[in-house]
Amino acid sequence: MILSLLLSFPALLSGCQKNESEANETESGTAAPLPPNEEKPTLDPNQKRVAITFDDGPHNVWTKQIVNELGRYGYTATFFVLGNRIDGTAYKGGDTMSFAASQGHEIAIHGYTHEVYYNKCTNEEYNFELSETDKAIRNWGGGTPTLMRPIGGSITTERVDACPYAVIKWDVDSEDWRYKYKSDDTEEARKEKVDTIVQNVMSNVGDGSIILLHDIYESTYDATRIILERLNAEGYAVVSVSELLGEPVPGKLYYSN
Ligand SMILES: [Zn+2]
Repeated sequence: MILSLLLSFPALLSGCQKNESEANETESGTAAPLPPNEEKPTLDPNQKRVAITFDDGPHNVWTKQIVNELGRYGYTATFFVLGNRIDGTAYKGGDTMSFAASQGHEIAIHGYTHEVYYNKCTNEEYNFELSETDKAIRNWGGGTPTLMRPIGGSITTERVDACPYAVIKWDVDSEDWRYKYKSDDTEEARKEKVDTIVQNVMSNVGDGSIILLHDIYESTYDATRIILERLNAEGYAVVSVSELLGEPVPGKLYYSN
């Protein structure tokens, strides 16, 4: 698999311009110009459906709590994981990821280190990020990944075209990473942060949406509980990205945020 991954990526000339401070944040303001090959799903006229995606995990507390909350509604989510947080030096979250997979959730590739952008890094770095995360997902019972979400949503058109996975962005950005709790937050401040995350989602969501959240923050867990309750009340089904898109195709870009 690793060999086939390496062989499937064309040689590109770009050097890596890694930006540590950007890389430590998440999907903010760094997206490349929209590639021309964006795909959209066919909507089901009988059922409003959305996909909820969680990036940057697994997290041994919040991922588990989110999975439990999804289970209350029979909802399925998609987790775009980091290989280094499965069984790497950053974190040991393999058991948590396999728990999510055992509950029927979709496990997909985000990256290994979260320290390079796929529109800037070298081929060696790009191949490492994808193939090592693919391997970690398989080794920990997450199945065979078929989807990839670029770090920060940034990737070149050439890399999308050559990608052995379907490339998945989003259309509803919760911006939850901006509203993490701080240790000195008052109850009121925490509530305001949760309300903002919920509002960012619920005021933009529609049939066929792909929602971006991060399962590594307590504030995201608190907001997710409310978001699930509201989506349920509004009659939405919450399905995996693969189900929403109906067998997404490798080398295609879905949504462009
Ligand atoms: Zn990320």
